[in-house]
Amino acid sequence: MLTIEKLNKNFNGNQVLKAIDLTFEPGETTVILGSSGSGKSTLLRSIDLLETPDSGTITIDQDKLSFPQNLSFRQLKEYRGHFSIVFQAYNLFPHLTVIQNVMEGPTQVKKIPKDQARKQAEILLEKVGLSDKALERPKQLSGGQMQRVAIARALAMEPEFMLYDEPTSALDPELAQEVLQVIKELAEAGNGQIVVTHHLEFARKVADRIVFLEDGKVTFDGSSQAFFESDNPRIQRYLQQFL
Ligand code: ADP
Ligand code: MG
Repeated sequence: MLTIEKLNKNFNGNQVLKAIDLTFEPGETTVILGSSGSGKSTLLRSIDLLETPDSGTITIDQDKLSFPQNLSFRQLKEYRGHFSIVFQAYNLFPHLTVIQNVMEGPTQVKKIPKDQARKQAEILLEKVGLSDKALERPKQLSGGQMQRVAIARALAMEPEFMLYDEPTSALDPELAQEVLQVIKELAEAGNGQIVVTHHLEFARKVADRIVFLEDGKVTFDGSSQAFFESDNPRIQRYLQQFL
């Protein structure tokens, strides 16, 4: 379980996260919605400690971090092992094949033997529907395929939570759907996931829970049904821009 309490983050005096309180259950898929600039990326990046919170606490399992806190390199590495983040841009290693991309983290970071990492990578590539692309280089793939490799690579680190920051926003609608389908299957398989997206249909069908951010504050945290049926005028206005 991941618990965030009173988390604050500012950039040059601009308060971007305002006393965020959230709990994420293992195995649940949470979708984070909110207008551009509401703080979604900063929240995800703070969870992964790519940004350092100014104050507040983050507790994962029994380990509680209270900010401000200076973490050693080792503590940071151990903490980050709970998460894998997938960005809008895939950032695959261009000189490595697809399967080598997926094996890189387990062999280099986790020091898992190569043949074991390869077996795991084959299973993951099958999961994201790319078994037949294992020996290709990233540049031979479509954007949707690259993003699915990025997901397989993130899964290879066996995180408790997969974090996605608008994973489909660089993709054409059709390619976006194949990526969303993979995330949906991972949700059904019981992976813990936190997904920032603007795909409302995906949010409605897949999210166990929706968190709505407005100006750095959580203003809705509940079931997807309750969110889409909300009579809150600001939520309705947000939803209407996508109709
Ligand atoms: P969202 O992902 O919801 O669009 P962000 O978390 O990216 O929102 O940004 C929230 C606010 O924080 C914006 O006003 C943005 O300009 C600001 N911001 C984000 N990252 C930085 C940064 N590294 N330096 C300064 N300001 C930032
Ligand atoms: Mg963002």
